[in-house]
Amino acid sequence: MNKSDHSNLSKNYQEHSTTIPVYEPYLQGREKEYVNQCLDSTWISSCKGEFIERFEQEFASYIGAEHVTSVANGPLALHLALETLELLPGDEVILPVLACIATLNAILQTGATPVCVDSLEHTWQMDPQEVRRKLTPKTKAMIVVHLHGLACDLDALQAICLEHQLTLIEDCTEAFGTYYNDQHVGTFGDLAIFSFYGNKTITAGEGGMVVTKTEDLWEKAHCLKTQALSKTREYWHNLLAYDYRMTNINAAIALAQLEQADTIFAKKRQVAEWYKLHLEELPLKGQEETLNTRHSNWVQSVMVEYPQEKQALRDYLRAVGIDTRPFFYPAHTLPYTKQKGAFPVAMFISYRGINLPSSPNLKEKEIILISEAIERFYILRCD
Ligand SMILES: *Cc1c(COP(=O)(O)O)cnc(C)c1O
Repeated sequence: MNKSDHSNLSKNYQEHSTTIPVYEPYLQGREKEYVNQCLDSTWISSCKGEFIERFEQEFASYIGAEHVTSVANGPLALHLALETLELLPGDEVILPVLACIATLNAILQTGATPVCVDSLEHTWQMDPQEVRRKLTPKTKAMIVVHLHGLACDLDALQAICLEHQLTLIEDCTEAFGTYYNDQHVGTFGDLAIFSFYGNKTITAGEGGMVVTKTEDLWEKAHCLKTQALSKTREYWHNLLAYDYRMTNINAAIALAQLEQADTIFAKKRQVAEWYKLHLEELPLKGQEETLNTRHSNWVQSVMVEYPQEKQALRDYLRAVGIDTRPFFYPAHTLPYTKQKGAFPVAMFISYRGINLPSSPNLKEKEIILISEAIERFYILRCD
């Protein structure tokens, strides 16, 4: 790489702005007002406070679910959802090998056995054909992850669950605002979970949600998240359980965010369109969308052609003030996950994948700057 070119670009870049972070939440609504209401009322914990219930009700109605219960973060939502199934050691739970490690960890934490499945080349989602090959008489449940905000092949995966009497759990942590056949994801499975971490489409600071199809499952989840506190006898507990509740302060932020959900989606869609326009000529591949899904555009991700370009491009962008993230490592590559077999498609994607800045706050001139920097990287590499 030509050194003087490189420093010129840095200089030009700094005239425009400082670092472009990979994510930044959009906090333009009543977040401050609602948090102040918590402080003024002194209800800042999780046992009482109006915002918890309000957020739960509004969230349920937004996605079209009947039963929801809020929790303190995404991994706890996953663990709580799985705990309602009362899995036994040896029971197997199917999941995609390419996803956030929280999903696999939650399965291990219940004592059950995670069984990873390879990805599809174009949508990067769990491959239904591969799922069929991984089924055994011990398979009890399947966790599908709507990776990067694209719905996975729910028709095919739901059919497998039905055929083999498996519980379907949807991991919608990246998919608030994602629709499949005009229905919001999280309303297909027996259970679903959402995360409201700072880089998720709507945030609570930290928070999560468990969605259940039936009232029975809701009862179980609610009981397990509140130390199985008796409804009729003070400080009496019938079961070993957890305290996974969301605080009123987090719910206050989340409610303010939910009120702006449509604005945030529109901004994220705009960001996605700008990237598409300005990256068009470059040798990068994006996640392929499918006809019956609406992408939430949670994160703007691209794959480089050759794995050796990945870190080089990331380093180049970093040097000019643009922050990126690599894709997740496929779970079988981590030392403790004990997954057998090969996962060639997930490896292919993971070795090439980069998440670009994806905040709803991004302006077109920033997307142009990012695109020009990527173009410059390829020009310098060809020289
Ligand atoms: C973010 C995320 C989680 C974890 O949720 P947090 O609340 O952010 O810890 C789990 N699974 C996936 C797929 C995620 O993207």
